[in-house]
Amino acid sequence: VTAPARFSGPVTGVVEATPSGDYLQQLFAAGVLIPLGVDGLYARSGGFEAVVDALDRLITRIGRPAWVGADGRSEPEPEVMRLPPAMSRSIFERTGYMSAFPQLAGTVHCFCGDERAHRELLELLESKSDWAAGQTTSELVLIPAACYPIYPIMAERGTLPPGGRVVDIGATCFRHEPSREPTRMQMFRMREYVRMGEVAEVDAFRAGWLERGRSMVTSLRLPFVVEAASDPFFGRTGRLMAAGQIEQALKLELQIPVNSSDAPTACLSFNYHQDKFGATWGLRTSNGAVAHTCCVGFGMERLTLALFRHHGFDTATWPAGVRDILWPEQASP
Ligand code: ATP
Ligand code: ZN
Repeated sequence: VTAPARFSGPVTGVVEATPSGDYLQQLFAAGVLIPLGVDGLYARSGGFEAVVDALDRLITRIGRPAWVGADGRSEPEPEVMRLPPAMSRSIFERTGYMSAFPQLAGTVHCFCGDERAHRELLELLESKSDWAAGQTTSELVLIPAACYPIYPIMAERGTLPPGGRVVDIGATCFRHEPSREPTRMQMFRMREYVRMGEVAEVDAFRAGWLERGRSMVTSLRLPFVVEAASDPFFGRTGRLMAAGQIEQALKLELQIPVNSSDAPTACLSFNYHQDKFGATWGLRTSNGAVAHTCCVGFGMERLTLALFRHHGFDTATWPAGVRDILWPEQASP
């Protein structure tokens, strides 16, 4: 897997975003996002959702397999799966998420007591004391990244078919990272394409999606850079892991200036997991080797916020070229 140098997109006619600390306030004032009393948790307007829906369909159109390799084989057809916002706790535990990102995880706890425990609960609520101590961990954990639940499903099916697999996933994800930056939500929607197969297949997939991502964002007339990045691993050992990740260019991000031009926001991520998930779940290729995997992830809210930031809150006044890409059914012939 080759590490691309810092790359600026071939963007013409686009105004750079100016730093704006109060983009969140502007979104509230325009009614695009509606506060729900917690930083990073918002209701979305109809206008916002219309853009999310259009992006969702655009990503599906772009995701249709188009490549035929030198050996004449084409990419597998993506298998569509949409997930509920939670996953199994035992599967979550095996992903290693809790050791790598304990600060971000959200686990579901429930009351499982009897009548006496209920009376105690009522007293604690009454006296505004800590009632949560009596909560029990349930078998559910909120999904932190859309692709996590997919690997055991695929491993359960047995060896990968020749050519591997592609899965098209969508999920609402949770990360405990409260922020006043509207692009850093606690619950947000992620689309992903996950590729499972041999190293060369996974490598070609990621390189191909990097191109597709660049041309998608260019067609939406958004400025961007592609950078090697790292995940927010916890603690001191985490910092070492993050450094290794950058060095090997395992995670690339397509970043768009949304909150500020100085610190552009990761809107697409291209992650190469090597054989990590293949080894964890015993997923093998048709040659018997441990499968390699990669995923491309799209932050649906982040892309939408980037479009509003650069083209304004009124989609009717967006450049015709951008509208035609998002709503081709309305495009003038
Ligand atoms: P960041 O570095 O900004 O924390 P990330 O690189 O950790 O983001 P990924 O784990 O790669 O993000 O998640 C895939 C995609 O999900 C990102 O490219 C981004 O578009 C979106 N995303 C991640 N975190 C958030 C969030 N807190 N709010 C909204 N979208 C998010
Ligand atoms: Zn993923």
